[in-house]
Amino acid sequence: LQQIADVDSRIAARIVNELHDQRTHLKLIASENFSSIASQLAMGNLLTDKYSEGYAYHRFYAGCDNVDAIEAIASEYACQLFGAEHAYVQPHSGADANLVAYWAILNARVQVPTLAEMGVTNPSEMSREMWNQVRAKLGNQKILGLDYYSGGHLTHGYRQNVSAQMFDAYSYSVDQKSGLLDYDAIEKQAREIKPLILLAGYSAYPRKIDFKRMAEIAHSIGAVFMVDMAHFAGLVAGKVFVDAYNPVLWADVVTTTTHKTLRGPRGGMVLCKAEFAESVDKGCPLVIGGPLPHVMAAKAIAFKEALDPSFAAYAQAIVKNSEALAKACMDEGITVATGGSDNHLMLLDVRSFGLNGRQAETALRECGVTLNRNALPFDPNGPWYTSGLRIGTPAVTTLGMGAEHMKEIASIIALVLQNTKPVVLTKGENAGQQSKAKAVTAVAVKDEAQRR
Ligand code: PLP
Repeated sequence: LQQIADVDSRIAARIVNELHDQRTHLKLIASENFSSIASQLAMGNLLTDKYSEGYAYHRFYAGCDNVDAIEAIASEYACQLFGAEHAYVQPHSGADANLVAYWAILNARVQVPTLAEMGVTNPSEMSREMWNQVRAKLGNQKILGLDYYSGGHLTHGYRQNVSAQMFDAYSYSVDQKSGLLDYDAIEKQAREIKPLILLAGYSAYPRKIDFKRMAEIAHSIGAVFMVDMAHFAGLVAGKVFVDAYNPVLWADVVTTTTHKTLRGPRGGMVLCKAEFAESVDKGCPLVIGGPLPHVMAAKAIAFKEALDPSFAAYAQAIVKNSEALAKACMDEGITVATGGSDNHLMLLDVRSFGLNGRQAETALRECGVTLNRNALPFDPNGPWYTSGLRIGTPAVTTLGMGAEHMKEIASIIALVLQNTKPVVLTKGENAGQQSKAKAVTAVAVKDEAQRR
């Protein structure tokens, strides 16, 4: 740290402050965790200085022996951990992993001409005319994924994401009454749309998914079945999601992040059946540029950690805590979407407290609880203010918390929400109306929440 401070004291101070923040606030953000020191050190070192475009033992750069070994070890552990036929550990993030997967599926199924077929050795040499040829070949392929407002991710075909430029994007929603996926409705929609890719996976759906059923739907219409398990990869690695609920068994291509329930460094990965391996390995020059050897080393460390039997116990504890926290919230009178959780996350509806998600998020943060607001399915408050909160248990489970702590957390959340009121505006055009962004919490309640 001193060496960082010698270069810039403000950055050093922010690292220390962040440590303090993460130690003094309850981390309930569903996509966050605490990675191990071994994984953090594997990531923060001289490996960052090495270029290694290509893939293991097939590089565009010299001197990649060590990176070759690191990438091969990380892939080997990933295959072992997930029982996958092939693993590509280069993607820098979950979003990149999805891009690599989309491009690989298009390449494998739509037969885009290879660079060699077009007579080029480097993508930067491709002329506009060549790109136009590629585009014409790709045609107007369709993707069908979970709607962003029902818990899907931006990269699943949301209109403002590049995925909606690459594909003619369609979405399925959850059932309006139950908030659950309706497989019959998805099947009907898939048969009508006939997408190239049927995509399952989520950022904010509190239940497990029947991937066997989804695969049957996809394969019955000749679609590629892709799963983005960014959020719940740790539950797959820890054998909580097995049989019909294990996406690696059923999907042609699986993407993930490595930093959420999987508890590794920030990054992405693609797992796939052998059919897609060659196309997936082309990800680097076509989509993501140079790999990050330091992050691949940290991924290998995290996968090795997850191969230890203690990780399965951890994964089970995440889900037990999530079930317990959802139940405790309901016991406190808080509405929980779908009536519970059987993964690592839940969605609370805060409207009965006269608040929107943004107000509730801010109030809880002021009381020492860090979580994020999230749109509920069909949310009248939209994705910015929202009516909901998303809560996850991966990080508090890493801290060793159990069912009793979940009760305590639910009671703190209820205490804060019950004692928070929206700020009434006094000036300007909206005077007399409630601020959509601000709320105040009784001072005594803040003190009490912080103390507990
Ligand atoms: N896919 C899903 C389902 C996600 O929830 C996220 C991130 O929250 C991503 C992809 C993107 O991951 P990253 O932030 O690493 O790009």
